[in-house]
Amino acid sequence: MNKWEEKILRLKQEHEQPFCAYIYDLDHLNDHVSQIVSQLPERSEMYYAMKANSERPILEEIAPLVHGFEVASIGEVRKAREVDPQIPVIFGGPGKTDEEILEAIRSRVSLIHVESIHELRRIEYLAGQLRVTVPILLRINLSGPFPDAATLHMAGRPTQFGIDEKEIPMVMEQLGKCEHVNLEGFHFHSISNHLNEFNHIRLLNTYIEKAKQWANQYGLTISRINAGGGIGVNYQDLSRQFHWPTFVSELRELLRKELPETWTLMFECGRYLTASCGYYVCEVLDLKENHGEKYAIVRGGTHHFRLPVSWNHSHPFRILPVDEWKYPFQRKKWEDCEITVVGQLCTPKDVMARQVPVEELRIGDLIVFQYTGAYSWSISHHDFLSHPHPAHFYLREIDHQWRAERKVES
Ligand SMILES: *Cc1c(COP(=O)(O)O)cnc(C)c1O
Repeated sequence: MNKWEEKILRLKQEHEQPFCAYIYDLDHLNDHVSQIVSQLPERSEMYYAMKANSERPILEEIAPLVHGFEVASIGEVRKAREVDPQIPVIFGGPGKTDEEILEAIRSRVSLIHVESIHELRRIEYLAGQLRVTVPILLRINLSGPFPDAATLHMAGRPTQFGIDEKEIPMVMEQLGKCEHVNLEGFHFHSISNHLNEFNHIRLLNTYIEKAKQWANQYGLTISRINAGGGIGVNYQDLSRQFHWPTFVSELRELLRKELPETWTLMFECGRYLTASCGYYVCEVLDLKENHGEKYAIVRGGTHHFRLPVSWNHSHPFRILPVDEWKYPFQRKKWEDCEITVVGQLCTPKDVMARQVPVEELRIGDLIVFQYTGAYSWSISHHDFLSHPHPAHFYLREIDHQWRAERKVES
């Protein structure tokens, strides 16, 4: 048994049954993010895209390590400001309301990502009312196609994001009439869950080329390219992740050769920073076979953890054996078979892993889903069916003793 498993078992013993919890390893998070940021070459900056996980202890842990936060709603602007009144905040997202834009400006966000020509006009108008100049990046939806298959595409195809590359001449004409916005550069966030280091570099190269081309063509003095996030997590094989050292060594070359000297390349990663620090742990409530398929029914489900259904994948897990058995009758057990892990919801879609081979599983054992620190609790429909929420623990080692802080839900 590894150290992690011991901690989970102890938490289970100390807390209510049946056990169901999100557990976050803050020491791991700190190491991981520090490693990533410290290897970045000069003239590049890392922001954390907080929609991946905006729990307060996660934000507090990350804030001192990254350059700033990327936010996509006024709620996220407020969360950023609660954690750090000074940290740079960049504000994006389609469909910003006037109230949100005004509050963001008053909250001193450092950049607004402009997603349409109408939004550009509105920001100009609102900034004029406040008598300020707002620094912006134009979010451009490039024509594509992009290198290889990532899981999600935000650009290079019809989506609600950014300004169609074909509209650049119109935006430039509009910008010429603006007095209260300052164009600092361009924002591109085109794909998500990209796992290939070299293809990601090629994508960044395309971004830099495009920005240089527009800067020349329209005589712009810009200084920033935001390359978005989109660095992936390999959920199919946890031992083979995006290799950061390879990526940064290629990145260093790319910046040296292609990025104009006064420019900065920004990253706003979500998944890659927080996924690996999280575990979603569920106790097995029942084992049953139905029409030839073996089901493990656990405390919890996709209302806590929607990622596997939203991606239609089997989420990786380990089984943590629990020795206690409180009933006077025999404990049900399966050996060397394939199981499908489902939750407590009354819908056949409540599946977190399908037909996965296991050596042994008993009622009362724990299923530990790994890499659940990003887009897991945060994207789930928590109150569907009104089951209880899972506990949330944030673990940290202090003087060789680990402490679990439990979040109390408001
Ligand atoms: C979601 C999002 C990110 C973060 O994406 P990851 O795939 O989690 O790295 C970055 N930028 C924008 C604009 C986003 O919408």
